[in-house]
Amino acid sequence: MEKDCLFCKIAHGEASTEFLYENERLVVFKDIKPHAPIHLLIVPKEHIRSINDLTEANRGIISEMIMIAKEMAKKMSVSESGYKLLFNVESGGGQAIFHLHLHLMGGWKR
Ligand code: 5GP
Ligand code: ZN
Repeated sequence: MEKDCLFCKIAHGEASTEFLYENERLVVFKDIKPHAPIHLLIVPKEHIRSINDLTEANRGIISEMIMIAKEMAKKMSVSESGYKLLFNVESGGGQAIFHLHLHLMGGWKR
């Protein structure tokens, strides 16, 4: 856990953020400022700064994040209508919180 990292605090239950899903390795919660009717964040408990910092040892967590995103899309009833999965990478890529997270966005009217 990284000192002064907001998503470390949230992922370890130190902020009053409600989890839609949690296991030993990751948590899922709603984005506080949603860019879509459904906007979730899939966040590993381990502090990894960004996609740039992934190592071979992180293959498991990155694939689990995507599998959980697929399951959460189904749970939130956006599988059929469709959704976006997004990693922002570093400031130029729109990353503002430097703790790895996967955005799941969907639920727009067709
Ligand atoms: P980034 O731009 O780093 O890819 O995305 C960070 C996301 O985290 C943003 O969409 C922002 O709205 C969300 N966020 C920032 N602070 C909080 C917070 O305290 N709680 C929750 N639930 N989401 C947050
Ligand atoms: Zn962190």
